[in-house]
Amino acid sequence: MLYFDHNATTPVIPEANQTWIKATEEYFGNPSSLHRIGTRADHALERSRHTIASILKCHPLDIIWTSGATEANNLAVFQLRNRLPPEKKIWVSPLEHPSILAPARHYFQNRITWIPVKPTGVVDLDWIQENLKVQSPGAVIAMAANNETGLLQPWKSISELCEGLEIPYLCDAVQWIGKQPAAGLGACTMVSASGHKFGAPKGIGFLKTDGTREFYPLIRGGDQESGRRSGTENIAGAMAITRALEHCEVRFPQGEQLERLRWRGEMIHRLQQELPGIVFIGGDSPTLWNTISCLMPDVGCQFRWVVKLDKAGFAVSTGSACASGSEKPSHVLEAMGLSPEESGRVIRISSSWNTTPADWNVLLKALKKLTQEAPRQTNPRE
Ligand code: PMP
Repeated sequence: MLYFDHNATTPVIPEANQTWIKATEEYFGNPSSLHRIGTRADHALERSRHTIASILKCHPLDIIWTSGATEANNLAVFQLRNRLPPEKKIWVSPLEHPSILAPARHYFQNRITWIPVKPTGVVDLDWIQENLKVQSPGAVIAMAANNETGLLQPWKSISELCEGLEIPYLCDAVQWIGKQPAAGLGACTMVSASGHKFGAPKGIGFLKTDGTREFYPLIRGGDQESGRRSGTENIAGAMAITRALEHCEVRFPQGEQLERLRWRGEMIHRLQQELPGIVFIGGDSPTLWNTISCLMPDVGCQFRWVVKLDKAGFAVSTGSACASGSEKPSHVLEAMGLSPEESGRVIRISSSWNTTPADWNVLLKALKKLTQEAPRQTNPRE
């Protein structure tokens, strides 16, 4: 089976795996314990916190370990709910992951202004810039890279705009971190990340917050993480996520992401040649090197691309993994103006650092074969 669903989750990389196993043996102590075994574990945890902070370029105390990004996002939105005056509105990108949208709707209800999205799948930066001249939202929420489409969002510009006006900015960087350099994310007020998206085990993530501000915990108890997130810390997880991030970060100075982007470009070019009628979501907008989101030719609504590809030995996804168990059209594609019927024909192909041009070739051949075998109908977008 060739796995092309790395935006949903990606295997643990050997380096992180070794770190994790070693940590469970050497740092099994409880970091809150006062004896040397506890202190040793505590030091290991703090070393990891320092490393993550130095990569993001923020203060170590800005980093709070969480179970993953769903928790980090909930925790972040909870801060906004508690910090902002009750009448304040927040601006939210409709492209956000459900772990942002659900708590935002829950806590802010009708106090959300939706940031317009361009048909290219990117939040409208001009709208943000213009409206910030006349309005002062309580916070802005917009992710770094979209999980369904791979499209890059203008988070650096939003961060600068917000910083200048002292407006809190929450950036879900789950799909960015590990694929693009993380430096600079530390300038955003809050940032969420998840280890299982870039080679660490599941069950570990972090929230970068503004460490000096008052913090409102969601989980109370033993006051770990300076009272911001109770519960005995996942030291092996923290060490593994740090190792995985370090391992990804060394690739960027060598331009490995640019090479992968070229491979992606070649695949797109060949798909265009071999599969007439295919439409690429986002067109030429800047995108993650690992993701191709495409509207497949209309070969009848019963034709389930993901199932057929699975039978042919390829794991790809419809929309996002979280939504793919349900038949609901993707809210991301809807925000980009796709009809529910079109949404149903979109597949997401997401690769990893280890995917080779040969893997892309085999997938291309399979897609071509499936298209030729399928009963053909007219594509309204052709
Ligand atoms: N945000 C984004 C953009 C994601 O892709 C995901 C995972 N699909 C999450 C948040 C949630 O992350 P986790 O699986 O760690 O809860």
